[in-house]
Amino acid sequence: MSYVLEINNVTKKFGDFTAVKSVSFNVEDGGFFSILGGSGCGKTTLLRMISGFEDVTEGELLIRGESMAGIPPERRPVNIVFQNLALFPMMNVEKNVAFGLQRQKLPKKEVNNRVTEMLERVGLVGFEKKKVTELSGGQRQRVAIARSLVLRPSILLLDEPLGALDRKLREHMKIELKVLQREIGTTFIYITHDQSEALVMSDHVAVMNEGQFEQIDTPKNLYKNPATSFVAGFVGESNEFNITGYADGELTTDNGCKLVKPGLDFQPKKLFIRPEAFILDSPETLPDVALINTRIRNILFDGANTKLSVVVKESSDEMLISLPQNAKFDNLHDGDDLQVGIHQDDLKCYKN
Ligand code: ATP
Repeated sequence: MSYVLEINNVTKKFGDFTAVKSVSFNVEDGGFFSILGGSGCGKTTLLRMISGFEDVTEGELLIRGESMAGIPPERRPVNIVFQNLALFPMMNVEKNVAFGLQRQKLPKKEVNNRVTEMLERVGLVGFEKKKVTELSGGQRQRVAIARSLVLRPSILLLDEPLGALDRKLREHMKIELKVLQREIGTTFIYITHDQSEALVMSDHVAVMNEGQFEQIDTPKNLYKNPATSFVAGFVGESNEFNITGYADGELTTDNGCKLVKPGLDFQPKKLFIRPEAFILDSPETLPDVALINTRIRNILFDGANTKLSVVVKESSDEMLISLPQNAKFDNLHDGDDLQVGIHQDDLKCYKN
């Protein structure tokens, strides 16, 4: 396995405050790796250490097997695309993309060839002479990426580059970025607080919380098997319950549900259930399925998906249930009693 980036027990301290706490991970060459976490968890600090704008307090950081200790940003084989893109507004597209190559004093012919090739790759042929102020948000985004990739970095670091775009364009750019990365093959390390961006685009995602990694995994595994309660709550939608007791393979929740979950070798405190894991169709007939009595509070129809907001009976706790795409819900009404089932494998339990 060839790793383009290896991070071993890297810590960053600002005075007494530790922003990144002994983080270790490797990134495969040519991969799309995202670091996902909430505001202030240390994502940008980690990115700045990779790019060389911030020193590493402890630990080791290698790019293509070479230690980056003491190597300044301009000598590292990495480039960054910032959220504000930092394009030169008075220059046209071509000049923006050529800028870094000209600074390297490459022959004019090589600069022209590489700029032309890169503009083709990002789909900006015909836009060469336009000023960046005349472009759409998505086109500007592509200029910023082209400007970085034309320098042929080993790693492209992307610091929430879609954050400033409106929702529709963001959805579109997610797909474009993923396709572009696959085509070009440069390793992308993408930081974001938006779990949907991370899940859609990445080969691997690291979920970060308070300066540490909670889990590094494929998007599918993160969603299906969250390693910690933080990940279960942060990635995707979940119903969260407090567990008040666990005995003889049965969980008791603080809102009175009793659910069979044999085989736990720890005392669980938190339970998470995905909205789509509930079974509505004759759950009482299925093996290993626990039943929960609820009452429908609201039917939430939003076009492609329908969800039910229900109240767990004998409590005031709400849960969210996703209906299967082709489910018929004409016979469901606000206020109806509804018994739902949940398979024991879909009860995700954590000790804290
Ligand atoms: P956001 O998504 O809001 O940008 P982030 O995950 O990128 O957040 P960082 O910018 O890495 O978070 O900051 C992590 C923590 O380190 C924060 O508590 C921040 O206040 C602190 N921090 C960052 N830079 C410095 C600095 N130069 N001096 C002191 N503290 C800092």
